[in-house]
Amino acid sequence: MNRKAGRFAQGIKLSTVIGLLSIFILLSAAGIGSYMSYINGREALAAQTLRLNEYHAGELARISSTAIETMQKSLLESADYIMSTDSSPEMIQRNLDYFRKSNGFFNSVVIINDSSVLTYSTPDLGLKGTTITTPQLVKALAGKTPSISAPYIAPTGRYIVTVSQPLFSRDGMYHGMLAGSIYLKEENRLGEILGTQNHKDDGSYFYVIDQSGKYMYHPNEQWIGKEVSDTFVRYAFSRGGSGSATIDQQDGKRFLAGHAMIPQTGWCVVFQTPYANVLESAEASTFETGIYMLPAVVVVLLMTLYVSHKLSMPLHTLALYTENMANRKGPKEIPNVEDWNYETKMLKEAILLAERKSREAEAYLLREANHDPLTGLLNRRTLESLTDEWMQQNKKFSVVFLDIDHFKSVNDTYGHQKGDEVLREMGAMLSDQIGINNHCFRYGGEEFVLLLSNGDEETAMLTAERIRTTVEISLMPIPQPITVSLGIAIRTDESTSEILFRKADLALYRAKESGRNRSVIFK
Ligand code: GH3
Ligand code: MG
Ligand code: MG
Repeated sequence: MNRKAGRFAQGIKLSTVIGLLSIFILLSAAGIGSYMSYINGREALAAQTLRLNEYHAGELARISSTAIETMQKSLLESADYIMSTDSSPEMIQRNLDYFRKSNGFFNSVVIINDSSVLTYSTPDLGLKGTTITTPQLVKALAGKTPSISAPYIAPTGRYIVTVSQPLFSRDGMYHGMLAGSIYLKEENRLGEILGTQNHKDDGSYFYVIDQSGKYMYHPNEQWIGKEVSDTFVRYAFSRGGSGSATIDQQDGKRFLAGHAMIPQTGWCVVFQTPYANVLESAEASTFETGIYMLPAVVVVLLMTLYVSHKLSMPLHTLALYTENMANRKGPKEIPNVEDWNYETKMLKEAILLAERKSREAEAYLLREANHDPLTGLLNRRTLESLTDEWMQQNKKFSVVFLDIDHFKSVNDTYGHQKGDEVLREMGAMLSDQIGINNHCFRYGGEEFVLLLSNGDEETAMLTAERIRTTVEISLMPIPQPITVSLGIAIRTDESTSEILFRKADLALYRAKESGRNRSVIFK
Protein backbone atom coordinates (compact mmCIF):
# COMPACT_ATOMS: atom_id res chain seq x y z
CA MET A 1 0.00 0.00 0.00
CA ASN A 2 1.07 3.49 -0.69
CA ARG A 3 2.60 5.54 2.08
CA LYS A 4 0.86 7.16 4.98
CA ALA A 5 -1.84 9.08 3.13
CA GLY A 6 -3.27 5.70 2.20
CA ARG A 7 -3.42 4.65 5.82
CA PHE A 8 -6.66 6.45 6.44
CA ALA A 9 -7.66 6.94 2.84
CA GLN A 10 -10.02 4.34 1.45
CA GLY A 11 -11.28 4.37 -2.11
CA ILE A 12 -10.05 4.37 -5.64
CA LYS A 13 -7.16 6.62 -6.60
CA LEU A 14 -7.96 9.56 -8.85
CA SER A 15 -5.32 8.46 -11.34
CA THR A 16 -6.89 4.99 -11.45
CA VAL A 17 -10.35 6.48 -12.03
CA ILE A 18 -9.09 8.78 -14.79
CA GLY A 19 -6.99 5.99 -16.26
CA LEU A 20 -9.90 3.55 -16.32
CA LEU A 21 -12.25 6.22 -17.59
CA SER A 22 -9.91 7.17 -20.40
CA ILE A 23 -9.38 3.53 -21.30
CA PHE A 24 -13.15 3.10 -21.39
CA ILE A 25 -13.63 6.27 -23.49
CA LEU A 26 -10.82 5.36 -25.86
CA LEU A 27 -12.03 1.80 -26.26
CA SER A 28 -15.62 2.85 -26.85
CA ALA A 29 -14.56 5.62 -29.24
CA ALA A 30 -12.30 3.18 -31.06
CA GLY A 31 -15.11 0.59 -31.03
CA ILE A 32 -17.73 2.99 -32.37
CA GLY A 33 -15.24 4.46 -34.85
CA SER A 34 -14.22 1.03 -36.07
CA TYR A 35 -17.82 -0.08 -36.34
CA MET A 36 -18.76 3.06 -38.30
CA SER A 37 -15.73 2.70 -40.53
CA TYR A 38 -16.59 -0.97 -40.98
CA ILE A 39 -20.18 -0.11 -41.98
CA ASN A 40 -19.07 2.72 -44.27
CA GLY A 41 -16.30 0.61 -45.76
CA ARG A 42 -18.71 -2.24 -46.32
CA GLU A 43 -21.25 0.00 -48.04
CA ALA A 44 -18.61 1.70 -50.17
CA LEU A 45 -17.06 -1.63 -51.12
CA ALA A 46 -20.45 -3.10 -51.97
CA ALA A 47 -21.31 -0.12 -54.17
CA GLN A 48 -17.94 -0.31 -55.86
CA THR A 49 -18.24 -4.06 -56.39
CA LEU A 50 -21.69 -3.60 -57.94
CA ARG A 51 -20.33 -0.99 -60.34
CA LEU A 52 -17.33 -3.16 -61.20
CA ASN A 53 -19.47 -6.23 -61.77
CA GLU A 54 -21.80 -4.32 -64.03
CA TYR A 55 -18.71 -3.17 -65.88
CA HIS A 56 -17.32 -6.72 -66.12
CA ALA A 57 -20.64 -8.06 -67.35
CA GLY A 58 -20.80 -5.23 -69.89
CA GLU A 59 -17.28 -5.98 -71.10
CA LEU A 60 -18.06 -9.67 -71.52
CA ALA A 61 -21.26 -8.81 -73.36
CA ARG A 62 -19.36 -6.42 -75.61
CA ILE A 63 -16.60 -8.93 -76.40
CA SER A 64 -19.18 -11.65 -77.00
CA SER A 65 -21.17 -9.34 -79.23
CA THR A 66 -18.11 -8.58 -81.33
CA ALA A 67 -17.33 -12.30 -81.55
CA ILE A 68 -20.88 -13.10 -82.65
CA GLU A 69 -20.70 -10.33 -85.23
CA THR A 70 -17.45 -11.77 -86.61
CA MET A 71 -18.96 -15.24 -86.55
CA GLN A 72 -22.01 -14.15 -88.51
CA LYS A 73 -19.85 -12.22 -90.95
CA SER A 74 -17.63 -15.23 -91.59
CA LEU A 75 -20.70 -17.41 -92.07
CA LEU A 76 -22.06 -14.87 -94.57
CA GLU A 77 -18.74 -14.81 -96.43
CA SER A 78 -18.66 -18.59 -96.57
CA ALA A 79 -22.27 -18.69 -97.81
CA ASP A 80 -21.43 -16.16 -100.50
CA TYR A 81 -18.47 -18.26 -101.55
CA ILE A 82 -20.51 -21.43 -101.74
CA MET A 83 -23.18 -19.73 -103.84
CA SER A 84 -20.77 -17.78 -106.08
CA THR A 85 -18.80 -20.70 -107.51
CA ASP A 86 -19.76 -23.74 -109.42
CA SER A 87 -17.59 -25.73 -107.12
CA SER A 88 -17.74 -29.46 -107.09
CA PRO A 89 -19.24 -31.12 -104.04
CA GLU A 90 -15.73 -32.11 -103.00
CA MET A 91 -14.58 -28.48 -103.18
CA ILE A 92 -17.56 -27.38 -101.13
CA GLN A 93 -16.84 -30.09 -98.59
CA ARG A 94 -13.18 -29.06 -98.41
CA ASN A 95 -14.17 -25.44 -98.10
CA LEU A 96 -16.55 -26.24 -95.27
CA ASP A 97 -13.90 -28.30 -93.52
CA TYR A 98 -11.43 -25.45 -93.85
CA PHE A 99 -14.00 -22.89 -92.74
CA ARG A 100 -14.84 -24.82 -89.61
CA LYS A 101 -11.27 -25.49 -88.64
CA SER A 102 -9.93 -22.03 -89.41
CA ASN A 103 -12.40 -19.82 -87.65
CA GLY A 104 -12.87 -21.99 -84.59
CA PHE A 105 -16.36 -20.70 -83.86
CA PHE A 106 -18.30 -23.81 -84.77
CA ASN A 107 -17.98 -27.37 -83.62
CA SER A 108 -19.91 -28.47 -86.70
CA VAL A 109 -21.11 -26.84 -89.89
CA VAL A 110 -23.85 -28.21 -92.14
CA ILE A 111 -25.64 -27.27 -95.33
CA ILE A 112 -29.32 -28.15 -95.44
CA ASN A 113 -31.08 -27.67 -98.72
CA ASP A 114 -34.48 -26.06 -99.13
CA SER A 115 -36.06 -29.53 -98.90
CA SER A 116 -34.63 -29.97 -95.35
CA VAL A 117 -32.14 -32.56 -96.54
CA LEU A 118 -28.66 -32.38 -95.02
CA THR A 119 -26.32 -32.21 -97.98
CA TYR A 120 -22.98 -31.39 -96.37
CA SER A 121 -21.59 -31.67 -92.91
CA THR A 122 -18.24 -31.12 -91.25
CA PRO A 123 -17.22 -33.12 -89.45
CA ASP A 124 -19.12 -36.03 -90.90
CA LEU A 125 -22.09 -36.48 -88.64
CA GLY A 126 -23.33 -39.49 -90.55
CA LEU A 127 -26.52 -37.67 -91.40
CA LYS A 128 -25.83 -36.88 -95.05
CA GLY A 129 -28.94 -37.34 -97.14
CA THR A 130 -31.27 -37.43 -94.14
CA THR A 131 -34.16 -35.07 -93.76
CA ILE A 132 -33.75 -32.73 -90.84
CA THR A 133 -36.66 -32.47 -88.47
CA THR A 134 -35.07 -30.68 -85.57
CA PRO A 135 -37.59 -27.88 -84.89
CA GLN A 136 -34.91 -25.18 -84.43
CA LEU A 137 -33.36 -26.03 -87.80
CA VAL A 138 -36.71 -26.37 -89.54
CA LYS A 139 -37.66 -22.95 -88.18
CA ALA A 140 -34.36 -21.37 -89.31
CA LEU A 141 -34.76 -22.93 -92.72
CA ALA A 142 -38.26 -21.58 -93.09
CA GLY A 143 -37.17 -18.14 -91.90
CA LYS A 144 -34.79 -17.65 -94.84
CA THR A 145 -32.92 -15.01 -92.83
CA PRO A 146 -29.72 -15.06 -90.77
CA SER A 147 -30.62 -16.37 -87.33
CA ILE A 148 -29.21 -17.53 -84.04
CA SER A 149 -31.21 -20.22 -82.31
CA ALA A 150 -31.88 -20.51 -78.64
CA PRO A 151 -29.81 -23.29 -77.07
CA TYR A 152 -31.42 -26.69 -77.57
CA ILE A 153 -30.63 -30.34 -77.24
CA ALA A 154 -29.70 -31.75 -80.58
CA PRO A 155 -30.64 -35.31 -81.62
CA THR A 156 -27.02 -36.20 -80.80
CA GLY A 157 -27.78 -35.25 -77.20
CA ARG A 158 -25.54 -32.22 -77.26
CA TYR A 159 -26.61 -28.86 -75.95
CA ILE A 160 -26.07 -26.51 -78.85
CA VAL A 161 -26.75 -23.17 -80.48
CA THR A 162 -27.09 -22.95 -84.21
CA VAL A 163 -26.17 -19.90 -86.24
CA SER A 164 -27.57 -19.98 -89.75
CA GLN A 165 -27.16 -18.07 -92.94
CA PRO A 166 -29.63 -18.49 -95.86
CA LEU A 167 -28.18 -19.55 -99.20
CA PHE A 168 -29.45 -17.55 -102.14
CA SER A 169 -28.14 -17.93 -105.70
CA ARG A 170 -27.47 -14.87 -107.79
CA ASP A 171 -30.86 -15.13 -109.39
CA GLY A 172 -32.44 -14.95 -105.96
CA MET A 173 -33.35 -18.61 -105.69
CA TYR A 174 -33.39 -20.02 -102.16
CA HIS A 175 -31.17 -23.06 -101.74
CA GLY A 176 -31.45 -23.75 -98.10
CA MET A 177 -29.03 -22.67 -95.39
CA LEU A 178 -25.50 -22.83 -94.09
CA ALA A 179 -25.67 -23.58 -90.39
CA GLY A 180 -22.87 -23.59 -87.85
CA SER A 181 -23.41 -25.24 -84.49
CA ILE A 182 -21.77 -24.21 -81.26
CA TYR A 183 -21.58 -27.03 -78.71
CA LEU A 184 -22.04 -25.25 -75.46
CA LYS A 185 -20.20 -27.82 -73.42
CA GLU A 186 -17.30 -28.23 -75.80
CA GLU A 187 -14.40 -26.08 -76.95
CA ASN A 188 -15.00 -23.22 -79.36
CA ARG A 189 -14.27 -19.50 -79.50
CA LEU A 190 -17.48 -18.38 -77.86
CA GLY A 191 -16.89 -20.92 -75.13
CA GLU A 192 -13.45 -19.44 -74.62
CA ILE A 193 -15.09 -16.09 -73.91
CA LEU A 194 -18.16 -17.16 -71.96
CA GLY A 195 -17.69 -20.76 -70.99
CA THR A 196 -14.26 -21.28 -69.49
CA GLN A 197 -12.50 -19.54 -66.66
CA ASN A 198 -15.73 -18.03 -65.56
CA HIS A 199 -14.70 -18.67 -62.00
CA LYS A 200 -12.27 -16.34 -60.25
CA ASP A 201 -10.11 -16.98 -57.21
CA ASP A 202 -12.04 -14.57 -55.01
CA GLY A 203 -15.25 -16.56 -55.54
CA SER A 204 -16.60 -14.21 -58.21
CA TYR A 205 -18.00 -15.89 -61.29
CA PHE A 206 -20.20 -15.19 -64.22
CA TYR A 207 -22.84 -17.07 -66.12
CA VAL A 208 -24.96 -16.55 -69.19
CA ILE A 209 -28.70 -16.91 -69.54
CA ASP A 210 -30.19 -17.54 -72.94
CA GLN A 211 -33.10 -15.71 -74.50
CA SER A 212 -35.56 -18.27 -73.16
CA GLY A 213 -34.42 -17.76 -69.53
CA LYS A 214 -32.25 -20.87 -69.10
CA TYR A 215 -28.65 -21.14 -68.01
CA MET A 216 -26.46 -21.62 -71.06
CA TYR A 217 -23.05 -21.06 -69.45
CA HIS A 218 -22.48 -21.63 -65.76
CA PRO A 219 -19.50 -22.78 -63.70
CA ASN A 220 -21.70 -25.50 -62.33
CA GLU A 221 -22.37 -27.62 -65.43
CA GLN A 222 -25.40 -29.24 -63.84
CA TRP A 223 -27.24 -25.96 -64.05
CA ILE A 224 -26.75 -25.59 -67.79
CA GLY A 225 -30.06 -25.92 -69.63
CA LYS A 226 -32.03 -25.42 -66.44
CA GLU A 227 -34.57 -22.68 -66.02
CA VAL A 228 -33.32 -19.71 -63.98
CA SER A 229 -35.29 -19.54 -60.76
CA ASP A 230 -33.64 -16.53 -59.15
CA THR A 231 -35.97 -13.54 -59.07
CA PHE A 232 -33.31 -10.92 -59.65
CA VAL A 233 -31.76 -12.72 -62.58
CA ARG A 234 -35.13 -13.22 -64.20
CA TYR A 235 -35.91 -9.57 -63.60
CA ALA A 236 -32.54 -8.44 -65.02
CA PHE A 237 -33.00 -10.73 -67.96
CA SER A 238 -36.45 -9.41 -68.67
CA ARG A 239 -35.30 -5.79 -68.42
CA GLY A 240 -32.43 -6.13 -70.88
CA GLY A 241 -29.67 -3.53 -71.00
CA SER A 242 -27.38 -3.52 -68.01
CA GLY A 243 -27.61 -2.92 -64.27
CA SER A 244 -26.62 -4.25 -60.86
CA ALA A 245 -28.19 -5.38 -57.61
CA THR A 246 -27.65 -7.41 -54.46
CA ILE A 247 -29.19 -10.83 -54.82
CA ASP A 248 -30.04 -13.43 -52.25
CA GLN A 249 -29.84 -16.82 -53.85
CA GLN A 250 -32.12 -19.63 -52.93
CA ASP A 251 -29.22 -21.44 -51.30
CA GLY A 252 -29.08 -18.53 -48.84
CA LYS A 253 -25.92 -17.01 -50.31
CA ARG A 254 -25.85 -13.29 -51.01
CA PHE A 255 -24.14 -11.93 -54.10
CA LEU A 256 -23.39 -8.55 -55.61
CA ALA A 257 -24.33 -8.94 -59.26
CA GLY A 258 -23.95 -6.87 -62.41
CA HIS A 259 -25.65 -7.84 -65.66
CA ALA A 260 -25.51 -6.88 -69.32
CA MET A 261 -27.32 -8.05 -72.45
CA ILE A 262 -25.65 -9.27 -75.64
CA PRO A 263 -27.72 -7.35 -78.21
CA GLN A 264 -27.70 -9.81 -81.16
CA THR A 265 -28.86 -12.77 -79.11
CA GLY A 266 -30.67 -11.38 -76.12
CA TRP A 267 -28.41 -13.47 -73.88
CA CYS A 268 -27.81 -11.99 -70.49
CA VAL A 269 -24.35 -12.04 -68.90
CA VAL A 270 -24.35 -11.93 -65.10
CA PHE A 271 -21.16 -11.31 -63.15
CA GLN A 272 -21.41 -11.81 -59.42
CA THR A 273 -19.21 -11.64 -56.32
CA PRO A 274 -20.01 -13.21 -52.94
CA TYR A 275 -21.10 -10.59 -50.43
CA ALA A 276 -18.86 -12.41 -47.93
CA ASN A 277 -15.83 -11.06 -49.87
CA VAL A 278 -16.96 -7.52 -49.17
CA LEU A 279 -17.44 -8.33 -45.49
CA GLU A 280 -13.98 -9.86 -45.36
CA SER A 281 -12.38 -6.85 -47.06
CA ALA A 282 -14.27 -4.44 -44.81
CA GLU A 283 -13.16 -6.42 -41.76
CA ALA A 284 -9.56 -6.48 -42.98
CA SER A 285 -9.52 -2.76 -43.66
CA THR A 286 -11.13 -2.04 -40.28
CA PHE A 287 -8.50 -4.21 -38.63
CA GLU A 288 -5.80 -2.38 -40.56
CA THR A 289 -7.24 0.98 -39.50
CA GLY A 290 -7.24 -0.33 -35.94
CA ILE A 291 -3.56 -1.24 -36.22
CA TYR A 292 -2.77 2.21 -37.64
CA MET A 293 -4.76 3.84 -34.84
CA LEU A 294 -3.09 1.79 -32.12
CA PRO A 295 -0.02 4.02 -31.64
CA ALA A 296 -2.26 7.08 -31.45
CA VAL A 297 -4.48 5.33 -28.91
CA VAL A 298 -1.43 4.36 -26.86
CA VAL A 299 -0.06 7.92 -27.04
CA VAL A 300 -3.41 9.41 -25.97
CA LEU A 301 -3.65 6.87 -23.16
CA LEU A 302 -0.14 7.63 -21.93
CA MET A 303 -0.88 11.35 -22.11
CA THR A 304 -4.06 10.85 -20.09
CA LEU A 305 -2.21 8.80 -17.53
CA TYR A 306 0.47 11.47 -17.36
CA VAL A 307 -2.10 14.25 -16.90
CA SER A 308 -3.99 12.21 -14.30
CA HIS A 309 -0.72 11.66 -12.47
CA LYS A 310 -0.07 15.40 -12.68
CA LEU A 311 -3.54 15.98 -11.27
CA SER A 312 -3.42 13.47 -8.47
CA MET A 313 0.17 13.98 -7.35
CA PRO A 314 -0.41 17.46 -5.83
CA LEU A 315 -3.54 16.16 -4.08
CA HIS A 316 -1.58 13.24 -2.71
CA THR A 317 1.22 15.56 -1.53
CA LEU A 318 -1.26 17.98 0.03
CA ALA A 319 -3.06 15.10 1.77
CA LEU A 320 0.25 13.85 3.19
CA TYR A 321 1.17 17.35 4.29
CA THR A 322 -2.21 17.88 5.97
CA GLU A 323 -1.97 14.54 7.72
CA ASN A 324 1.54 15.37 8.97
CA MET A 325 0.35 18.81 10.00
CA ALA A 326 -2.41 17.23 12.09
CA ASN A 327 0.15 14.90 13.66
CA ARG A 328 2.60 17.77 14.25
CA LYS A 329 5.13 16.14 11.94
CA GLY A 330 6.83 16.89 8.66
CA PRO A 331 7.66 20.28 7.17
CA LYS A 332 6.12 23.48 8.52
CA GLU A 333 5.76 25.08 5.11
CA ILE A 334 3.08 23.89 2.67
CA PRO A 335 4.83 21.94 -0.13
CA ASN A 336 5.26 23.70 -3.44
CA VAL A 337 2.88 21.53 -5.46
CA GLU A 338 1.86 22.18 -9.06
CA ASP A 339 -1.38 24.07 -8.58
CA TRP A 340 -2.10 24.86 -12.21
CA ASN A 341 -5.66 23.64 -11.93
CA TYR A 342 -8.48 25.40 -10.15
CA GLU A 343 -9.34 22.65 -7.66
CA THR A 344 -5.76 22.10 -6.50
CA LYS A 345 -5.29 25.83 -6.10
CA MET A 346 -8.51 26.03 -4.11
CA LEU A 347 -7.50 23.07 -1.92
CA LYS A 348 -4.09 24.57 -1.27
CA GLU A 349 -5.65 27.86 -0.25
CA ALA A 350 -8.19 26.04 1.93
CA ILE A 351 -5.37 24.13 3.65
CA LEU A 352 -3.47 27.36 4.22
CA LEU A 353 -6.60 28.95 5.67
CA ALA A 354 -7.33 25.93 7.88
CA GLU A 355 -3.71 25.94 9.00
CA ARG A 356 -3.85 29.64 9.92
CA LYS A 357 -7.15 29.22 11.73
CA SER A 358 -5.84 26.24 13.64
CA ARG A 359 -2.69 28.14 14.59
CA GLU A 360 -4.82 31.04 15.82
CA ALA A 361 -7.04 28.68 17.78
CA GLU A 362 -3.98 26.99 19.18
CA ALA A 363 -2.48 30.31 20.19
CA TYR A 364 -5.74 31.32 21.80
CA LEU A 365 -6.01 28.06 23.70
CA LEU A 366 -2.38 28.28 24.74
CA ARG A 367 -3.01 31.76 26.06
CA GLU A 368 -6.13 30.60 27.83
CA ALA A 369 -4.20 27.74 29.39
CA ASN A 370 -1.29 29.89 30.56
CA HIS A 371 -3.04 33.02 31.74
CA ASP A 372 -5.37 33.99 34.47
CA PRO A 373 -8.61 35.23 32.98
CA LEU A 374 -9.31 37.92 35.60
CA THR A 375 -6.01 39.75 35.67
CA GLY A 376 -4.47 38.63 32.40
CA LEU A 377 -1.31 37.65 34.30
CA LEU A 378 0.40 34.29 33.83
CA ASN A 379 -1.21 31.61 36.00
CA ARG A 380 0.09 29.23 38.57
CA ARG A 381 0.67 26.47 36.07
CA THR A 382 3.00 28.64 34.04
CA LEU A 383 4.73 29.64 37.23
CA GLU A 384 5.46 26.03 38.02
CA SER A 385 6.79 25.18 34.57
CA LEU A 386 8.93 28.30 34.38
CA THR A 387 10.31 27.64 37.84
CA ASP A 388 11.16 24.08 36.85
CA GLU A 389 12.82 25.35 33.72
CA TRP A 390 14.93 27.81 35.67
CA MET A 391 15.77 25.10 38.16
CA GLN A 392 16.95 22.83 35.39
CA GLN A 393 19.05 25.64 33.98
CA ASN A 394 20.54 25.94 37.45
CA LYS A 395 19.74 29.57 37.46
CA LYS A 396 20.07 31.83 40.46
CA PHE A 397 16.75 33.58 41.03
CA SER A 398 14.31 34.79 43.66
CA VAL A 399 10.66 34.04 44.40
CA VAL A 400 8.40 36.64 45.96
CA PHE A 401 4.99 35.74 47.40
CA LEU A 402 2.65 38.71 47.51
CA ASP A 403 -0.66 38.71 49.40
CA ILE A 404 -3.14 41.57 49.67
CA ASP A 405 -3.74 42.56 53.25
CA HIS A 406 -7.25 42.18 54.61
CA PHE A 407 -8.68 41.57 51.28
CA LYS A 408 -11.65 39.79 52.78
CA SER A 409 -12.76 43.08 54.25
CA VAL A 410 -12.49 44.71 50.77
CA ASN A 411 -14.94 42.18 49.51
CA ASP A 412 -17.07 42.51 52.56
CA THR A 413 -17.14 46.29 52.38
CA TYR A 414 -17.32 47.03 48.65
CA GLY A 415 -18.62 43.85 47.24
CA HIS A 416 -17.02 41.01 45.37
CA GLN A 417 -17.09 42.93 42.09
CA LYS A 418 -15.05 45.77 43.50
CA GLY A 419 -12.72 43.13 44.93
CA ASP A 420 -12.26 41.83 41.37
CA GLU A 421 -11.51 45.33 40.13
CA VAL A 422 -8.88 45.67 42.83
CA LEU A 423 -7.36 42.35 41.75
CA ARG A 424 -7.29 43.53 38.12
CA GLU A 425 -5.71 46.81 39.08
CA MET A 426 -3.16 44.94 41.14
CA GLY A 427 -2.33 42.74 38.14
CA ALA A 428 -1.87 45.76 35.88
CA MET A 429 0.30 47.48 38.40
CA LEU A 430 2.50 44.40 38.96
CA SER A 431 2.97 44.02 35.19
CA ASP A 432 4.10 47.64 35.04
CA GLN A 433 6.46 47.32 37.93
CA ILE A 434 7.95 43.91 37.39
CA GLY A 435 10.76 44.97 35.01
CA ILE A 436 12.40 43.00 32.19
CA ASN A 437 13.50 39.37 32.69
CA ASN A 438 11.17 39.14 35.73
CA HIS A 439 7.68 37.64 35.70
CA CYS A 440 4.55 37.96 37.75
CA PHE A 441 1.82 35.40 38.21
CA ARG A 442 -1.56 35.23 39.88
CA TYR A 443 -1.08 32.37 42.29
CA GLY A 444 -4.70 32.17 43.39
CA GLY A 445 -7.24 34.38 45.22
CA GLU A 446 -5.53 37.59 46.23
CA GLU A 447 -2.07 36.04 46.14
CA PHE A 448 0.53 36.82 43.47
CA VAL A 449 4.03 35.46 42.85
CA LEU A 450 6.97 37.27 41.33
CA LEU A 451 9.86 35.39 39.73
CA LEU A 452 12.90 37.60 39.73
CA SER A 453 15.74 36.49 37.50
CA ASN A 454 18.18 37.99 39.94
CA GLY A 455 19.30 35.79 42.81
CA ASP A 456 20.74 38.56 44.84
CA GLU A 457 19.03 39.15 48.25
CA GLU A 458 19.48 42.86 48.17
CA THR A 459 18.09 43.34 44.70
CA ALA A 460 15.15 41.06 45.51
CA MET A 461 14.41 43.04 48.64
CA LEU A 462 14.65 46.33 46.76
CA THR A 463 12.26 45.11 44.06
CA ALA A 464 9.79 43.81 46.68
CA GLU A 465 9.90 47.06 48.59
CA ARG A 466 9.52 49.13 45.46
CA ILE A 467 6.41 47.20 44.57
CA ARG A 468 5.03 47.32 48.10
CA THR A 469 5.44 51.09 48.34
CA THR A 470 4.00 51.62 44.85
CA VAL A 471 0.90 49.60 45.87
CA GLU A 472 0.56 51.58 49.01
CA ILE A 473 0.36 54.89 47.20
CA SER A 474 -1.58 53.61 44.17
CA LEU A 475 -5.07 54.81 43.48
CA MET A 476 -7.39 51.85 43.77
CA PRO A 477 -11.02 51.53 42.65
CA ILE A 478 -11.97 51.71 46.31
CA PRO A 479 -11.77 54.75 48.55
CA GLN A 480 -9.23 53.20 50.93
CA PRO A 481 -5.58 52.34 50.26
CA ILE A 482 -4.48 48.79 49.66
CA THR A 483 -1.39 47.29 51.14
CA VAL A 484 0.42 44.06 50.45
CA SER A 485 2.74 41.79 52.38
CA LEU A 486 5.63 40.07 50.59
CA GLY A 487 7.72 36.99 51.39
CA ILE A 488 11.01 36.54 49.57
CA ALA A 489 13.07 33.38 49.06
CA ILE A 490 16.35 33.14 47.18
CA ARG A 491 17.03 30.01 45.26
CA THR A 492 20.10 28.26 46.51
CA ASP A 493 21.86 25.40 44.71
CA GLU A 494 20.35 22.66 46.78
CA SER A 495 16.74 23.86 46.96
CA THR A 496 13.87 22.39 44.99
CA SER A 497 10.87 24.38 43.84
CA GLU A 498 8.70 23.02 46.68
CA ILE A 499 11.26 24.06 49.28
CA LEU A 500 11.69 27.41 47.59
CA PHE A 501 7.93 28.08 47.55
CA ARG A 502 7.56 26.96 51.15
CA LYS A 503 10.32 29.30 52.17
CA ALA A 504 8.68 32.24 50.39
CA ASP A 505 5.33 31.34 51.91
CA LEU A 506 6.90 31.21 55.33
CA ALA A 507 8.50 34.60 54.80
CA LEU A 508 5.07 35.91 53.75
CA TYR A 509 3.56 34.46 56.85
CA ARG A 510 6.17 36.25 58.91
CA ALA A 511 5.40 39.51 57.13
CA LYS A 512 1.75 39.07 57.98
CA GLU A 513 2.57 38.12 61.50
CA SER A 514 4.78 41.06 62.05
CA GLY A 515 2.10 43.54 61.07
CA ARG A 516 1.55 43.34 57.31
CA ASN A 517 2.48 45.89 54.63
CA ARG A 518 6.06 44.77 54.63
CA SER A 519 8.59 42.56 52.91
CA VAL A 520 10.35 39.71 54.70
CA ILE A 521 13.15 37.66 53.27
CA PHE A 522 13.51 34.05 54.32
CA LYS A 523 16.67 33.50 56.28
P1 GH3 B 1 -4.80 38.64 55.29
O1 GH3 B 1 -4.34 40.02 55.49
O2 GH3 B 1 -4.49 37.78 56.43
O3 GH3 B 1 -4.33 38.09 54.03
O4 GH3 B 1 -6.34 38.74 55.27
P2 GH3 B 1 -7.26 38.48 54.07
O5 GH3 B 1 -8.63 38.86 54.37
O6 GH3 B 1 -6.67 39.05 52.87
O7 GH3 B 1 -7.09 36.90 53.94
P3 GH3 B 1 -8.13 35.78 53.75
O8 GH3 B 1 -7.35 34.55 53.25
O9 GH3 B 1 -8.85 35.57 55.06
O10 GH3 B 1 -9.15 36.23 52.71
C1 GH3 B 1 -8.93 36.27 51.38
C2 GH3 B 1 -10.11 36.68 50.69
O11 GH3 B 1 -9.93 36.91 49.32
C3 GH3 B 1 -11.20 35.70 50.80
C4 GH3 B 1 -11.87 35.70 49.46
O12 GH3 B 1 -13.22 36.06 49.55
C5 GH3 B 1 -11.17 36.74 48.68
N1 GH3 B 1 -10.96 36.33 47.33
C6 GH3 B 1 -10.22 35.26 46.90
N2 GH3 B 1 -10.28 35.20 45.52
C7 GH3 B 1 -11.04 36.28 45.11
C8 GH3 B 1 -11.44 36.78 43.83
O13 GH3 B 1 -11.12 36.25 42.83
N3 GH3 B 1 -12.20 37.90 43.80
C9 GH3 B 1 -12.61 38.54 44.90
N4 GH3 B 1 -13.34 39.66 44.80
N5 GH3 B 1 -12.26 38.09 46.10
C10 GH3 B 1 -11.47 36.97 46.24
MG1 MG C 1 -4.33 35.17 51.28
MG1 MG D 1 -4.74 38.50 52.14
